[in-house]
Amino acid sequence: MAYVIAEPCIGTKDTACVDACPVDCIHPKKDEEKFGSEEMLFIDPVECIDCGACVPVCPVSAIFAADDLPDKWADFTQKNAVFFGR
Ligand code: SF4
Repeated sequence: MAYVIAEPCIGTKDTACVDACPVDCIHPKKDEEKFGSEEMLFIDPVECIDCGACVPVCPVSAIFAADDLPDKWADFTQKNAVFFGR
């Protein structure tokens, strides 16, 4: 299981989660080339250690444990994984 970033991140890309993540598994970061072209941020499902540290810092409540992801955003599990080629 991993945490998933969902629809509220689109157009937000706050990046507070990037700073909160202890294993640096949220991308693209501000200094990465894809930050400008991607509409949201993603969590690497392989590297995520399920610590939950990113959840409370998100200003738009876009991050969910996989089990708690609302059904309407179910496709975001794959969207996050695809960004990392998973
Ligand atoms: Fe990073 Fe923890 Fe959030 Fe996973 S749950 S993305 S490891 S801060």
